[in-house]
Formats: sequence, C-alpha cells, structure tokens
Amino acid sequence: MRYGVLSDIHGNLEALDAVLGALADERIDRYLCLGDIVGYGADPNACLERVSGLTTDVIAGNHDHAAIGRLDIATFNRYAAEAALWTRRQLTPAGRRYLGALPYTWRKDDLFAVHGSPANPEDWIYLTSLWLADEAFDAMPGDTVLCVLGHTHAPGIFEKQAAEDRSRQVPAAALELAPECRYIVNVGSVGQPRDGDPRAAYCVFDSAEKRVEIKRVDYDIETAQRKIRDAGLPEMLAERLEYGR
Ligand code: ZN
Repeated sequence: MRYGVLSDIHGNLEALDAVLGALADERIDRYLCLGDIVGYGADPNACLERVSGLTTDVIAGNHDHAAIGRLDIATFNRYAAEAALWTRRQLTPAGRRYLGALPYTWRKDDLFAVHGSPANPEDWIYLTSLWLADEAFDAMPGDTVLCVLGHTHAPGIFEKQAAEDRSRQVPAAALELAPECRYIVNVGSVGQPRDGDPRAAYCVFDSAEKRVEIKRVDYDIETAQRKIRDAGLPEMLAERLEYGR
C-alpha cells in the first residue's frame, strides 16, 4: 500500500493542488490527511471540498476546531485568531459539520496518525524536542511501528530503537524502516511551511517496501498571497509564505 500523507493545508488551495498534482505521479493507493485543513489561507471551503472528495481518512487539527468554535482562540496569537474568526465566517454549514465529525486519531495495521502528538492528542502538543518525542513514542499504540503527524509545520523524522530508552532525530528526508525500530514522521505543512523552505511539504509511505519519504514541491505562492490580501486577512500571513516561516 502506498500512502500519500498531507498535513496542515491551512486553506492554501494553490499549495494543495501542487501537492495533489505531484502525488498523481506516485501510484498512491490511499490518501491520509492529518488535520488543519483550514485556518490562515483564503480558500477554506475549496480545500475542504478537495480533501473530502479525496479520502475519508482524515483527522482533526486544532485550527479545524478553532474554526468551528470548539477550541478557544485565546490560546492563539493575534494573526491565527483573526484568521480563525475569518474562517469561521466563511465555512458552509456542511463544512462545519464535516470538521466537527473528524476523529483525533487514525490507525491501520502498524500505521498510526495524529495531528500533534500521540501523547494526549486533544492537547495539541507541538513535538519540538527529543523529550517530547520520547513521550510520544511511549504513547503510540503498542503494536504500531510508524506514527505520522504534523502541527509544527517543520518536517522531520524521529527514530527509537527497541532496546533503547531515548529517541533520536534522523537527519534525512527519507529512510527505510528498520525492523528493530519505531518511527515518528512529521510530514511538514502543505500550506504554510515554517522550516525556511517555502515549498509545500508532503509524505509518501510505502508499507510494502517499508520506505518513508518527505517530499517538497513548488507552488504558485504569489496567487496564494494575493488571495490572502484580497480577503483582508493579516498581511503577515501572506508575507510568511514566501520565506517558509
Ligand atoms: Zn497547522
């Protein structure tokens, strides 16, 4: 089975279409979306339509919950809060129902998916340290081998050997899963990368070949920026796209 894994689309239709175009050449059997379909970008409804038409394997992100009023935006910075309120006004009733019905986690065989961390998925933890990665490995369902997640908008791979207490970060964008290890792969963000690379990020996992790869693709950043400005969303949300910050 070849999985195409997408996370943190954030209403960026140009980035989403570029990723789907790239994945069309990848012989994908099943698409998996790790949440934050909306929030920040100017096309929440169009992105919801694309994702819901693509797959039923979709989980919730914190911005999806903020957009339907299920998460208190007092925890958001002012740009994120303003975008959440704007998105809330744009959503159709069907879109609200769709977001409200998404589960926190997903699993199939030895593959597990969550937006932030398997440790308390509803707390939206940002997996930004090895200490948090250790905690996340401990919280992965016992018989799962690979956990895919997003939320930080920074792609990366963590590895934990069965015989060791501590995990480590793998300095690579692709690897073959070793039988004595478990893995957490942060697939990065489709619509708002923050690792200094403005290209859209996504992931391909081949469960037969036991191979996982984080990939990048260029997209029409200028159009995504123009739509954000035309919508009256904060200028900073348009600007950051060209720097990947
Ligand atoms: Zn996000």
